[in-house]
Amino acid sequence: MKILVQKFGGTSLSTAEARAHVIEHIQAALNQSYQVVVVVSAMGRKGEPYATDTLLDWIASNGDSLPSREMDMLMCCGELISAATLCSLLNEQGIRATALTGAQAGIRTNDDFGNAQIESIQPKRIFELLKQGNVVIVTGFQGETAQHDFTTLGRGGSDTSATALGAALKAEMVDIFTDVSGILTADPRIVEDAKPLDVVSYTEICNMAHLGAKVIHPRAVEVAMHANIPVRVRSTFSTETGTLVTNPTAIKETGSVQDRLITGIAHVPAITQIRVTADDGVFDLQLRVFKAMAKEKISVDFINVNPSGVVYTVYDKEAARAEAALVSLGLSPQLIPGCAKVSVIGGGMNGVPGIMATIVEALTDADIGILQSADSNTTIWVLVQGENMAEAVRALHRRFNLHR
Ligand code: ADP
Ligand code: MG
Repeated sequence: MKILVQKFGGTSLSTAEARAHVIEHIQAALNQSYQVVVVVSAMGRKGEPYATDTLLDWIASNGDSLPSREMDMLMCCGELISAATLCSLLNEQGIRATALTGAQAGIRTNDDFGNAQIESIQPKRIFELLKQGNVVIVTGFQGETAQHDFTTLGRGGSDTSATALGAALKAEMVDIFTDVSGILTADPRIVEDAKPLDVVSYTEICNMAHLGAKVIHPRAVEVAMHANIPVRVRSTFSTETGTLVTNPTAIKETGSVQDRLITGIAHVPAITQIRVTADDGVFDLQLRVFKAMAKEKISVDFINVNPSGVVYTVYDKEAARAEAALVSLGLSPQLIPGCAKVSVIGGGMNGVPGIMATIVEALTDADIGILQSADSNTTIWVLVQGENMAEAVRALHRRFNLHR
């Protein structure tokens, strides 16, 4: 059995024209003798009738008091509508198709509603349906608990549904179809001439995804890496095969890429910098600050500790809670909201001197101040004011010659 998993994102399903392309991709896979499992997201983006964000707005105007368990019931609806729509269109074309919910597809999760983790997949029913000659459509982003409650996997969760099904079915490949030509050196919404990457390693793209490149969810990449299943990120609107994500050995075999110094630039907006200054003679400041953040379950990043105090970042949406927790400890934090984290990512930068100097130079030339910086062996991050984010991404992209 040669199985292909094809995942189609929201914009790939939102118009009749896009759905016609989806059907062509499914037909092309069948023509290549694949057994096809299709994972679908909810159709469209915020404001469109069946998009998940539209459903959330609906509840916000109807009591706005839905418990998280029932919230997941609601959030599963968009994918159900997508799956039924695609099933109808495929059958109309004479392609036999059956649609399954996450639960019917055997996807079992824990009960962390809204951000559930897949615990196991029992794909027996999918195998049976494939054997009977069906295209099997599975609703992305969802599973069920041991008690058969609906759960959802968090933003970008359909990508994880796809790679987890790929792993469970021992698929030959997982294709993530989206509205861009593949993984690019930066978000094309910010950098117009960002360059598509032919091949990237799981770790390179996982890194980029964690640092804000939303084209694929990092958890989905981790699952694929674990199962060693190749993933292609490609456009619904063309027949090009996009970016291949695979392991370094397979990359060497393709011989198509030289070691890259810099892979790309990623960004995360809506970040608040928090600075807490230590009074003379206070030695336990960091411990108190980070214990307070842990107690509030606020994730912190970009941590710099020095004798004069502590500087770190949180998401804007958690800043008010973080501030209140610090004030209740008798501290006087200073906050800069609306910052952005801009990252330069590249497995090849390890041990190469001068990258930080190049970054500082590029930003200084563009009149952009750096609020904070940090590095690891594959990434250098800088924190900038939000209004400078797009220009910082563009300046770094230019300086490292990443354009087409
Ligand atoms: P889907 O609904 O298909 O899952 P997403 O919106 O989740 O689509 O992901 C596709 C989007 O990711 C693109 O439209 C693009 O703006 C954005 N993106 C961010 N960083 C990158 C990058 N490095 N390469 C490609 N796309 C990126
Ligand atoms: Mg997505």
